[in-house]
Amino acid sequence: MPAKILDGKVMSAAIREQVACRVAALKDRGLTPGLAVILVGNDPASEIYVRNKRNGCEETGIYSRTIRMAETIRQEELEAQIEELNRDDAIHGILVQLPLPAQLDEQAALAKILPEKDVDGFHLINAGLLMTGGKGVTACTPKGALHMIRSTGTDLNGKEAVVIGRSNIVGKPMAMLLLHENCTVTICHSRTKDLKTHTRRADILVSAVGRAGFVTADMVKEGAIVIDVGINRVDGKVCGDVDFEGVKEVAGWITPVPGGVGKMTIAMLLVNTVEAAERKLAGD
Ligand code: NAD
Repeated sequence: MPAKILDGKVMSAAIREQVACRVAALKDRGLTPGLAVILVGNDPASEIYVRNKRNGCEETGIYSRTIRMAETIRQEELEAQIEELNRDDAIHGILVQLPLPAQLDEQAALAKILPEKDVDGFHLINAGLLMTGGKGVTACTPKGALHMIRSTGTDLNGKEAVVIGRSNIVGKPMAMLLLHENCTVTICHSRTKDLKTHTRRADILVSAVGRAGFVTADMVKEGAIVIDVGINRVDGKVCGDVDFEGVKEVAGWITPVPGGVGKMTIAMLLVNTVEAAERKLAGD
């Protein structure tokens, strides 16, 4: 039987509706959640991501501000802008659109964001809180992917989870989240030997590599939950890491690309923003 589709469009629409209700409740209490996005330069892909984030805010009633900075700015200028937003009471979430131009130090810039306004969850404090099981802001893409995994209703205790990719923004936080769900987690990466022996054991397989057609049907266990985080462009068309047509015949559940994890990432950014505003109101 072909895999059931984990539909990011449907799932993210439901989350945006919940966010809109929470925003309305905050507004009733006199607080409008605000998200600021800093966009440096004119990278066309970043422009699209920023536009989608702005649309998400508009749809849910979150105040959004896009701050455009020239490609050639210096580190001090970027950090001064972040510090200004840290002090701004109308802004509850700050996001620096990555990647930044080469002359800028991403890690140093992210470190300037107040951890409670770090709605991307990339600040070292939030990464550390995730690692230690504390209450921090969780990175949007893994948070969205976990929501999709949970939506299958599968008991995750003791399940074999394999994450392909070890980046700080996807692979590592994804592995941590699955560990907190009591999965037995394996992280595979570019130096992993005999990848297939690992992936074939996976009840939950998450691919965050960035290569079209990377995960093929022979790498997947019958009935597995397959989460495709990859975003690749082939002949102008967007696709994931997973050979969708082949893998859907083996997997139990699968996310499409487009219309999968990407939709959830933006929804979770809105969730993180509304949560930051709720914490502010609660005086945390
Ligand atoms: P990255 O380049 O930082 O990491 C890629 C990872 O893949 C690395 O850790 C590397 O070790 C691993 N890898 C490379 N070749 C491999 C191989 N042959 N075998 C096993 N592992 C291998 O990328 P990233 O930022 O983690 O993003 C990964 C993908 O996810 C990209 O396609 C990116 O566009 C996409 N992405 C999607 C979303 C979303 O919202 N859906 C968000 C972030 C990233």
